[in-house]
Amino acid sequence: METGCLYVVATPIGNLADITQRAIETLRKVDFIAAEDTRHSRKLLASLAVNTQLISLHDHNERSRCAALVEKMQQGLHIALVSDAGTPIISDPGYHLLRAAQDAGIVISPIPGASAVVAALSASGLPANRFYFHGFLPVKAAARRTALEGLTDIQETLAFYESGRRIIACLQDIHDILGGDREMVIARELTKVHETVLRDRVFSVLDSYLAGRLQQRGEFVLLVAGAYKNHSDTDIRQAQILLEELGDSLPAGQLASAISKAVNVPRKQVYRMLMDLRERE
Ligand code: SAM
Repeated sequence: METGCLYVVATPIGNLADITQRAIETLRKVDFIAAEDTRHSRKLLASLAVNTQLISLHDHNERSRCAALVEKMQQGLHIALVSDAGTPIISDPGYHLLRAAQDAGIVISPIPGASAVVAALSASGLPANRFYFHGFLPVKAAARRTALEGLTDIQETLAFYESGRRIIACLQDIHDILGGDREMVIARELTKVHETVLRDRVFSVLDSYLAGRLQQRGEFVLLVAGAYKNHSDTDIRQAQILLEELGDSLPAGQLASAISKAVNVPRKQVYRMLMDLRERE
């Protein structure tokens, strides 16, 4: 008997017109749709005239449901996995089912489409050839700060998911730990009516939020420039060498000013490098 297939189907992140033709065809032809929130998905499916039976599959029942779903696929039934929005598995449920299906020899087939992180990067103006996707930072402040501390040296653009409820606390920590001078992008409510993509320095974005000039409600992708990425690698390396050689010879501010003039890297950035260096020593 032929086994079924597990289709990983992306759905829109806001604008329903972003559903793909293949997604609609797949959702119609499969035997079951495993959905994160069946009530939520039912609305989307009704708008697409898809009548396929839904099964709930969320973080809390995923492990216990895996075996039964894999058995269905082994019997030849096809299943589509969807989440509430965007691409399943990416900060969404489905990982355990996918692994279990793979281990059982089931074919996994992606039906690609929207994902908030890719949409944000594509419109950001920050380097996007290489990026570091962190997903959600921890909700608790201490754990969030620890997680950010682990990212300070990453040179790729950093990408986070965040909800409006924590946006200011999260920006404050990004400012304090990654540095206020970095460029960042706020990508809010992408593909929806109040879509906003804003690129500015971290300190300036934080100021605007603290002053109530920017909207906190909605869904956010936060992108933050990687460590020391605003200037050429050669300039940064030269600054680093000078700092290592001259580290203790002058007061920090004077040293940062002198090196900044010599190697075309902003004083603030040299100062931050010096502080990093002193901390490491
Ligand atoms: N799997 C989804 C994907 O591929 O984008 C992400 C699911 S995750 C549970 C939901 C988070 O994605 C939101 O809290 C927000 O950070 C981000 N997000 C989803 N839709 C968005 C949108 N339209 N604009 C900005 N961020 C969005």
